[in-house]
Amino acid sequence: MEATLKKIFGFTDFRPHQREIVQSILDGRDVFAVMPTGGGKSLCYLLPALLKPGLCLVISPLISLMKDQVDNAREVGIRAAFLNSTQSPDERRQVVSAIHEGELDVLYVAPERLSTRDFQEFVAGININFVAVDEAHCVSEWGHDFRPDYLALSNLKKIVGAVPVAAFTATATRKVQDDIVDRLRLDHPYMVRASFDRPNLFYKVEAKDGVSAQVAQAVLQFKEQPGIVYRLSRKGVESTAAYLQKKGINAAPYHAGLSPQVRQRHQEQFNRDQIQVIVATIAFGMGIDKANVRFVIHGDLPKNIEGYYQETGRAGRDGDLSHCILFYSRGDMAKLGSFIDQHPDKALQKVSWQKLGKMADFAEKAECRRVSLLGYFQEVYPHDNCGACDVCMQGVDVVDGTTEAQMFMSAIYRTQERFGVGHILDIIMGAKNKRILQLGHEALPTHGVGKHLTRSFWRRFSEGLLAEGLLESVGDQFKILQITAKGQGVLYGKSGYTYAVLKGEKKKPPSKNVDEKGYNTDLFSLLKEVRTRLSDAADVPPYVVFADKSLRQMCLYYPQTEGGMLGMHGVGTAKMAKYGHDFLAEIKKYVEANPECLKASGVDMPVVTTVARLAKDKDGGSSETIQATIALLEQGQSLADIVAERGLKLTTISSHVEAYLAAGHSLNLEHLLDTAQQHKIETSFTTHGLEFLKPVVAELDVTYEQAKIVRGLIRGRANSHS
Ligand code: ADP
Ligand code: ZN
Repeated sequence: MEATLKKIFGFTDFRPHQREIVQSILDGRDVFAVMPTGGGKSLCYLLPALLKPGLCLVISPLISLMKDQVDNAREVGIRAAFLNSTQSPDERRQVVSAIHEGELDVLYVAPERLSTRDFQEFVAGININFVAVDEAHCVSEWGHDFRPDYLALSNLKKIVGAVPVAAFTATATRKVQDDIVDRLRLDHPYMVRASFDRPNLFYKVEAKDGVSAQVAQAVLQFKEQPGIVYRLSRKGVESTAAYLQKKGINAAPYHAGLSPQVRQRHQEQFNRDQIQVIVATIAFGMGIDKANVRFVIHGDLPKNIEGYYQETGRAGRDGDLSHCILFYSRGDMAKLGSFIDQHPDKALQKVSWQKLGKMADFAEKAECRRVSLLGYFQEVYPHDNCGACDVCMQGVDVVDGTTEAQMFMSAIYRTQERFGVGHILDIIMGAKNKRILQLGHEALPTHGVGKHLTRSFWRRFSEGLLAEGLLESVGDQFKILQITAKGQGVLYGKSGYTYAVLKGEKKKPPSKNVDEKGYNTDLFSLLKEVRTRLSDAADVPPYVVFADKSLRQMCLYYPQTEGGMLGMHGVGTAKMAKYGHDFLAEIKKYVEANPECLKASGVDMPVVTTVARLAKDKDGGSSETIQATIALLEQGQSLADIVAERGLKLTTISSHVEAYLAAGHSLNLEHLLDTAQQHKIETSFTTHGLEFLKPVVAELDVTYEQAKIVRGLIRGRANSHS
């Protein structure tokens, strides 16, 4: 597994859960996995697809995404193709014949294809090793993305026969999870619920005030890096896009009012780094696989946290530090609320209001954004300071606002609680406009009391009073401010009012997620040019050639041989053959012209250790981690003890034992299984073959771990005879 991970994908380590999922599929066990966007789900099925003989079938809902998925897989040398309605009969025939020739590892299909007779007959005649169901939440009516086509998947097991099924999704509540397991008829699946935390995303909320200008300022700070700006309405999209363009930013709009051709073109150009910023409504999202989105800005409040999480989740799929900025004003809540009120379904209205309230809480509370987001998904964030949100990085000051609250509320009180926030602001700021003069409000003692502070301060301050329940906003068409009982307590000096504000921003933006500190930025620009040249020629997005992280490593380690290059993140043999030499040539040229750069770097290449470890793994279970497991086993510990002691998964530990035995080593297994069980399991393997564990476990009353151990023994024997 590790060797293939490095050789094909160019990665040295698995992301959390990947190893266990791959292992389970290899063991013939069903899998159900919820992993966040960017968690690396595709690798979980592509890797076993390479290791298992036969064809891996991937069910994927979006035809538009299939081409990208196939391109991505092909780039690393996986033999992938798709079958869908966009192809001519001829193209489809070619794919089918490639499958019959055993020339494909992975086939992507849309779910509706499964229910066709043709396809079912075709499937019956080929050797499918397992099925991966992508976006599996689409099968559940409880989910937010139900697709009737996915109902065909209830028959999946009948259609494909006794092969493992692995289902993947990025969003599933417990209820949806149970529903998926049920509908796909997964059998004791290996379950993963990965954390929703996206450690490489930095969250920040800012008070909204002239949003297009604020967005432009933020975007300019991100230099040339790609990002998405979300706005609520088409009009908002158009105006912000126009503003950014005026500021010289390479931005384009995307919303449902544009023709499909224009939308497609903008998406494509964004994907290829030809457009820096997409300004979009939430119509832009499904099918965005771009790995290097460095920022997601919300110019308006999202409707709920699910939406916010999903949209911000499009940032930083490649694992590099990325920024999520929300420009917030309580006014947005009123706007969204009026949409909710228009909905005929009362029950739905209530739920929508609750969700909107949670979203506003997220923006208003001076609580760690990560704690607050994860809390919404019932996950407890285990650290005090997340190190990657405005609240944690800036810290909060608790400020006494009793006097200001009294000023603001007395303006409301003296005007008989009949006016909206705009007019109250006019009074305390001392405005002398027509309305103020008509009503004689310039004569109020509170007229102008707030002049020493800015209008936007007071606006935000009033939002705080609302959020704390000192004021309420009432009325259908025109909202007016009224003082609650709690507010009266403060107004009459019976209680005080404090509020939390973020401390001043620290100058330096965080860089904790960039591992390649001190990489050579001059060389980086040169390598980026090489990448653009190659990606244009191959007609793929630049990040498909190499991720930024790969280039940064090259600019830190200056690899000058093929072996050195293969040690870099994301460089596998296929990409080495296809692109590696162009980068090598550029690096060599640079090093020749600037020999001093090597001295300045002073870092050892990571390649040496990696290659050494791979070599060790190959000769059969002698790597350190396996040794550690075996040592504990030899002390008589049970598998469960070892799991607890080493903090690894049971599947991992049992794989260690299997690998060790398969390499021909002997072990005392008395405390793990008795001889009678061993014989039963061996006989069962003789009938079912060694490939899958499941038939054996299903037939006998034994655990997966016991079956695995016996399989190790059988393989070990076979190895020592040959
Ligand atoms: P998901 O489908 O879960 O949203 P992807 O499969 O698209 O995520 O993977 C996101 C990114 O992470 C891709 O750029 C992929 O190459 C990268 N990736 C996946 N697994 C690893 C790993 N083990 N090490 C480093 N990068 C990885
Ligand atoms: Zn935090």
